[in-house]
Amino acid sequence: NRRIVLNSRPHGAPVPENFRLEKTEIPTVNAGEILLRTVYLSLDPYMRGRMNDSPSYAPPIAIGDVMVGGTVCRVMESQHSGFAKDDWVLANSGWQDYSVSDGTGLMLLDKHLEHPSWALGVLGMPGFTAYMGLLDIGQPREGETVVMAAATGAVGSVVGQIAKLKGCNVVGIAGGPEKCRVGVETFGFDACIDHYTDDFPNQLARACPQGIDVYFESVGGKVFDAVLPLLNVKARVPVCGLIAHYNDTELPPGPDRLGLLMQTLLIRRIKAQGFIIFEDYGSRYGEFATAMGPWVKEGKIKFLEDIVDGLENAPEALIGLLTGGNFGKLVIRAGNH
Ligand code: NDP
Repeated sequence: NRRIVLNSRPHGAPVPENFRLEKTEIPTVNAGEILLRTVYLSLDPYMRGRMNDSPSYAPPIAIGDVMVGGTVCRVMESQHSGFAKDDWVLANSGWQDYSVSDGTGLMLLDKHLEHPSWALGVLGMPGFTAYMGLLDIGQPREGETVVMAAATGAVGSVVGQIAKLKGCNVVGIAGGPEKCRVGVETFGFDACIDHYTDDFPNQLARACPQGIDVYFESVGGKVFDAVLPLLNVKARVPVCGLIAHYNDTELPPGPDRLGLLMQTLLIRRIKAQGFIIFEDYGSRYGEFATAMGPWVKEGKIKFLEDIVDGLENAPEALIGLLTGGNFGKLVIRAGNH
């Protein structure tokens, strides 16, 4: 059994030495328990925050503890009446090959799923985040302009496609020409702008001739700087993430633009609202599942994964996620079906 633990806390961007691979015996199962084999491990930006020893909405990972993470697992052995050998379950067993559970917090998945890993993506936490953030906070109306960054990622790609289903004009922002091409050709966005080009703020302005009514914020930094002047009166800004800042060790260099931000919010009467998906919307998961299941089945929402083989490659993949190295939802394939 291999597991990856937090070896030390990063200062700025994580480095491989912050992680340590350990080998242990495969755990044994007692009455009322099941043995899980991790098949897919989800890698998500929030994991960077858990590596810090600072107060947040969730406690930090302790040094020496297994890295946290959502997983799709096979039941290898069961002494629990609710689970049978070979069942698929959605778990939170973290960065390890095997784990033992008493069933708490597990969700049984359909045995015949075409893409079991999608339970970590469009049909799971990131899809739920896109759905609630856009529809409940963003409140997009037909004909409005919706903009989201990290537009080919797990959350962003779903935000943009739901906004299209609601009849909006959708402009994505993504890193590089290939991601932008996929944004338009695969996900059906009206435009997708590359934030690495020198001319990025002007290109974004040209793609949004009517201004921006909903900006789904996942990034911050230079992307938000380009968006701010384009926000319309009564724009809504669901604040979902600020990935450009997760590795920051101090406030960015000046000039201080807080006054500009607050003045823009005031004069244009903009609503910006942060949310943490399960804390704020946990009770509404059913609503999401009822809508998203059919959209995916009917091909109205498409989903792109970036699958990396081997648990040992998880540290490098997480480091890459924080600089745009992934193309689609980042998932580790830790074992065979
Ligand atoms: P993605 O699949 O979108 O992957 C992250 C993407 O962010 C990268 O591919 C890259 O896209 C972009 N990115 C990374 N680093 C930077 C940087 N320094 N500057 C600009 N862009 C960068 O991840 P998710 O869909 O899983 O997450 C998207 C956001 O949603 C994150 O901020 C995450 O924290 C947040 N989130 C919040 C939740 C909540 O409850 N509030 C729940 C789930 C996610 P590109 O190359 O296109 O720039």
